Amino acid sequence: MINCPCCRTTNPSDAVFCGNKECGKAIGELRFVREEFIASRCWYERLAGQVTTFVGHPHFLLVHLVWFVIWALLNIEILPATFVFDAYPFSLLGIILSVEAIFITGFLLMAAKRDIEYADKLAELDYEVNVRAYRKMRDLENTIVEIHAAIGAKPVSKDPSKSKIPEPAET
Ligand SMILES: [Zn+2]
Repeated sequence: MINCPCCRTTNPSDAVFCGNKECGKAIGELRFVREEFIASRCWYERLAGQVTTFVGHPHFLLVHLVWFVIWALLNIEILPATFVFDAYPFSLLGIILSVEAIFITGFLLMAAKRDIEYADKLAELDYEVNVRAYRKMRDLENTIVEIHAAIGAKPVSKDPSKSKIPEPAET
């Protein structure tokens, strides 16, 4: 029996896809790269992911727009009886935005680094699948050659080198 790494549904040992129709994840002997990757994140990488998601949302721009308008209205003395705490050209606002930009840049770079690591793991898994497929094809070719030899049949290809499967390239 195989437990699906996503929804924890128990599947037969020969299942290829999760039996849960809402999940449908491919399961089997290969590594569960995405689940391994998510489980291996430390607290600041989780935080970086959440910050990146928030920053990439239109609400982020909307919040800043409202913030800038309120800040400007309070500090250009349009409204009567307001306390001016950051007169034009809004130096305090500039400092706050600079600090915010530093932190957001750091979080974005952390998230980008994780994305690159995830892409590398996927490429590694793709290569593993290709090598396994190559080995299966090579075994099948050898089996066909053995069957031909056993029954005394002539090879299909006149050029034996064309029937050989080339070795996979190193990555
Ligand atoms: Zn599942």
